[in-house]
Amino acid sequence: MAGTGKAAEHGVLFKNAEAIENASKLKVIVFDKTGTLTKGEPSVTDVVAMDDGRMMNDEGHSSVLRLAAIAEKNSEHPLGEAIVRGAEARGLEIPDAESFNAIPGHGVEARVEGREVLLGNRKLMRERNVDISPLLPQAEALERDGKTVMFVAVGGQLAGLIAVADTLKEYSAEAIQRLHQLGLEVAMITGDNRRTAEAIARQVGIDRVLAEVLPQDKAEEVKKLQAQGLKVAMVGDGVNDAPALAQADVGMAIGSGTDVAKETGHVILIKEDLRDVVVAIEVAKATMGKVKQNLFWAFAYNTLSIPIGAGLLYPVFKLVVSPEWAAFLMAVSSITVTLNTLLMRGFVPSIRREERRREAAQRPLVAATVSSGK
Ligand SMILES: [Mg+2]
Repeated sequence: MAGTGKAAEHGVLFKNAEAIENASKLKVIVFDKTGTLTKGEPSVTDVVAMDDGRMMNDEGHSSVLRLAAIAEKNSEHPLGEAIVRGAEARGLEIPDAESFNAIPGHGVEARVEGREVLLGNRKLMRERNVDISPLLPQAEALERDGKTVMFVAVGGQLAGLIAVADTLKEYSAEAIQRLHQLGLEVAMITGDNRRTAEAIARQVGIDRVLAEVLPQDKAEEVKKLQAQGLKVAMVGDGVNDAPALAQADVGMAIGSGTDVAKETGHVILIKEDLRDVVVAIEVAKATMGKVKQNLFWAFAYNTLSIPIGAGLLYPVFKLVVSPEWAAFLMAVSSITVTLNTLLMRGFVPSIRREERRREAAQRPLVAATVSSGK
């Protein structure tokens, strides 16, 4: 109870005591990729503009992105939406295109400010006889990093390219670094192709990548790790993660994930912050530490006091424990254990401890600035 209460205070819901016990013994943490380590939706990562001598580079980027966003404004394609979001985030104005035509599997064509704008993949550019060779090396390098590249052509001439990729959540890398510090192995499981999976794994420092895994095989992969005698936790968000969450010794569901995942998981991480996996493990270890301390003291106390109560000291010291004293001493034992457990209230996960330390370090600085301003 003390453990689940402490964990809940930090946004980690343990559904039962068994989950706490298992979480304290974990050896491997398996993360789902999309929606767990990453945001689960694509966003613009790179814009490359052709240097045609007329426009400056920065301007060129904005111009390529702006034209692409106008062309995609009414698109319902996730990649198109990513481009529109990317342009909006950079403060670009996106008027309506004069005409718009989606070409399934290829991209879009649109008429923007009297110019013919094409946005799409290699196939589209080839069909429209646009020469993409000047940007091909850059496109291939971006694709090696697991990004999706779209070419932009204006008036039949290549104008630039835009790369879009699913990006990491804010604290994914830090969470994995901390898990490594705790001596845990970190794996990632995904249905994505190996190239995309490894690009993400490299960014966050994953030890083991299980790529191109079919949804129904995720649980099987967890089982394989368990067969090596390892306690395994699975962290996931999707419907397809549910069997693996159930199979794992500890299934951790992301709070923003699907209901099925949350229903199946043994632990729910309420916030989007993956560092809470570390919080869960630290709370679990602290709780099991308390359980062991309490067991030790209860046994030590009873081993000593029961024989005394039974008259062990009578033959030599003529000492008998009266029933009143016996009852009192028994109660003291229970109170000690309870008080020791209550010390859990003072437990602070390492992340919060460091945050507080950082804040404390900043405070004198602020004070100094204020006083020097006087
Ligand atoms: Mg997912």
